[in-house]
Amino acid sequence: MKLNQFVIIGLGRFGSSLGRELIRLGYEVLGVDRDEEKVQEMSGMLTHTVMADATEEDVLRSIGARNFDCGVVAIGDDIQASILATILLKELGVKKVVAKAVSDLHGRVLERMGVDRIIYPERDMGVRVAHQLVSPNLLDYIELSQKYTIAELAVPQCWSGKSLADVDLRGKFGCSIVAINKPGGIIIAPAAKDVLSKEDVMVLIGTNDQIEECQESFH
Ligand code: ATP
Ligand code: ATP
Ligand code: CA
Repeated sequence: MKLNQFVIIGLGRFGSSLGRELIRLGYEVLGVDRDEEKVQEMSGMLTHTVMADATEEDVLRSIGARNFDCGVVAIGDDIQASILATILLKELGVKKVVAKAVSDLHGRVLERMGVDRIIYPERDMGVRVAHQLVSPNLLDYIELSQKYTIAELAVPQCWSGKSLADVDLRGKFGCSIVAINKPGGIIIAPAAKDVLSKEDVMVLIGTNDQIEECQESFH
């Protein structure tokens, strides 16, 4: 299912940033906030903005919330409002409901309500930043499971000018490079003869231990 139209409830820092990025990616976004200032701030940036209290059923009905493919509840501090807006979106039949949680308990409540995806922005960002601080070459990563990770790493100086065969990543560490992002373009499924350069970003797949060992070998 392709999601095209989004309704975002709450245009705080998280909701407004999400909305701007969805617009940049070419999607339609309706932003709802009860604070007039927030609505005005975002009015030129989103497809539509509405000043309303999203805990009122009539309000959500009148803006046609049920016609949206995805609803994001980006209210944090007011947990009651977050829960009410979430249940209303679900009851109206919004296909996919995503909500931001400010605490573990808040998240557990949302989970019980059948929210499709729960986001803990501060907690998750803290975890990501910790990984990046201890591994200076690490740009980003996706945990595939408890054991396997895909990591985006800046090519270290010591590997610049070397081919994959020279570095022998599979032989030495057991992980593989699935792509090399070069300033001139991306190489998908690179071969042994492909050469790394310090301007490149390599995308590695392997176990957490393999990727860690690989990074420890950088000097
Ligand atoms: P952020 O960290 O993203 O800035 P936050 O976690 O601090 O947000 P709040 O500031 O509580 O969360 O809420 C985000 C936005 O949601 C605010 O702009 C607020 O006006 C709006 N909001 C809160 N309750 C409602 C509601 N019932 N209806 C509509 N908007 C609401
Ligand atoms: P081997 O000869 O060691 O069995 P192979 O049959 O895969 O490896 P090549 O494809 O020529 O032979 O690769 C030689 C070496 O280059 C591999 O052992 C590996 O260390 C490295 N290599 C090649 N492609 C990649 C890749 N995509 N990611 C990581 N390492 C690679
Ligand atoms: Ca806050």
